[in-house]
Amino acid sequence: MTRTIVIGGGIAGLATAALLAREGHRVRLLERGDRIGGRAGVLERDGFRFDTGPSWYLMPRVFDHFFALLGTSTEEQLALRTLDPGYRVFSEPAGDGAARMLEIPFGADRVVETFERVEPGSARALRRYLASAAHAADLAERRFLYNPFTRLGSLADGEVLRALPRLTTLLGTTLERFVAKRFSDPVLRQVLGYPAVFLGTDPSRAPAMYHLMSALDLDEGVQYPMGGFWGLVERLEALAVDAGADIVTGAEATAILTRRERGRLAVSGVRCRDARGSERIEHANLVVSAADLHHTETALLEPEARSYPESWWRKRESGPGAVIALLGVEGSLPQLAHHSLFFTRDWAANFDAIFGEARSVPDPASLYVCRPSATEPGVAPDGHENLFVLIPVPADPALGSGGADGTGDAAIEQAVDAAIDRISLWAGIGDLRERIVARETIGPADFARDYHSWSGGMLGPSHILRQSALLRAQNQSKRVDRLYYAGATTAPGVGVPMCLISAELVLKRIRGDRSAGPTAPLARALDRSATR
Ligand SMILES: Cc1cc2nc3c(=O)[nH]c(=O)nc-3n(C[C@H](O)[C@H](O)[C@H](O)COP(=O)(O)OP(=O)(O)OC[C@H]3O[C@@H](n4cnc5c(N)ncnc54)[C@H](O)[C@@H]3O)c2cc1C
Repeated sequence: MTRTIVIGGGIAGLATAALLAREGHRVRLLERGDRIGGRAGVLERDGFRFDTGPSWYLMPRVFDHFFALLGTSTEEQLALRTLDPGYRVFSEPAGDGAARMLEIPFGADRVVETFERVEPGSARALRRYLASAAHAADLAERRFLYNPFTRLGSLADGEVLRALPRLTTLLGTTLERFVAKRFSDPVLRQVLGYPAVFLGTDPSRAPAMYHLMSALDLDEGVQYPMGGFWGLVERLEALAVDAGADIVTGAEATAILTRRERGRLAVSGVRCRDARGSERIEHANLVVSAADLHHTETALLEPEARSYPESWWRKRESGPGAVIALLGVEGSLPQLAHHSLFFTRDWAANFDAIFGEARSVPDPASLYVCRPSATEPGVAPDGHENLFVLIPVPADPALGSGGADGTGDAAIEQAVDAAIDRISLWAGIGDLRERIVARETIGPADFARDYHSWSGGMLGPSHILRQSALLRAQNQSKRVDRLYYAGATTAPGVGVPMCLISAELVLKRIRGDRSAGPTAPLARALDRSATR
């Protein structure tokens, strides 16, 4: 039986532990924190339950496929609610008044009608845009996202070759230009461009291929798993444990140990430190690090064992950092939808402050507000609302960390104060500040300290073209045999669905499966071997 250590108990580590335990490995997962979930965290206080990370449930097919791999289904694991409206967009007002508000409803036909109302003549353009997005998303799922890229021939199949002229256009132009050619209303342009932020970049840097993201929020719609993303983490943990994995918290991996086997380096175990500071060695035949890849490569491996040394990272670009506010608010907030986006008019300046040469917290900053209490009252005490406010900022731990009730570093608290004022003014909630009864903030330094995240980034390397697909760090060490990598900082990329796929890519590599698409569910594979 393969003795496997998984480092990191975020979404990717839990998913990997579940898949490998079900595959028959003897799995132990080591998580440095005192809880699992990593960036998909939870904070409970005064009767509020705040998700501290993801809140958009996108790419439902990826979840369906992942659960099927484990012999279960999304219906068995999660209670999903479709959000209608999908979200609201508040646009920076000209003066001091309330903002222009646009509601994106559930259902492609209604979204098309909304676009037509805002920009007469845009209905046809949007239908074509969404058809193209759906085609790109489908091709990506079947040919690229689950592809370990260990056989370049997998890219030379008929379907990809036929799509090549289109792909060349989509990879050779930016999302911003692609959208601007088809739509002129500035807010509609923002609706089609903002998903680039999900990918850790901005529309002027993301390739137009990522217009596929609009197939998710505008066409398929936005869902919410009851229990939030913390509920999903708990399901993943239960599935990993059911499959036989042993999950240990308060266990920090301090080194991945290697030895020479027939002239090559191969893993032999992991050194780890428990919460009391005692060190021990966990022997293993196989190691999967699902911790941030920069940390894994530059802190856990000896220089000769590094596939992605510091010099490699110097040429890479991080996605944004985040200032986050978790707010408990007295009374109700019908002005906000479950998801609300606040977009500044000068978007270029906003993104430039995050990704450009002279980086700073954008002012004014575009921001995102989640109000899960709109769908799940249990996340707040009776008569209260639960708000998660996310302000994308540069990935820079020097901006500082957050704290409880205004005790965070000055730059973090100032950014949060400005965000509260903006939400209050634009959404017309004059007394928002006075109604806040609980306030917790998080800054880039918290990400660096709690998750060893590279540059304090919230997501990982951005999905600019040269950091996407086969150009992104892959799921296996080039230097050390039987060492694999999962998670948002590896392939295929950032976001919860991508982390689930990264776990499957590890499984495929271990099995020597070089196919381009998703694996046939393990259940079926196991049934076949049982009848053999
Ligand atoms: C604020 C925010 C909002 C987001 N919104 C969305 C969204 O709406 N939808 C979506 O799909 N995605 C979203 N994402 C992205 C998504 O949450 C992440 O891509 C995903 O959770 C990353 O999971 P991971 O397992 O790769 O990494 P992590 O969550 O970072 O997990 C890695 C784990 O490894 C542990 N670790 C690190 N070093 C060691 C060590 N030496 N020893 C032991 N353990 C170690 C860490 O403590 C951590 O628990 C969001 C992310 C953030 C931060």
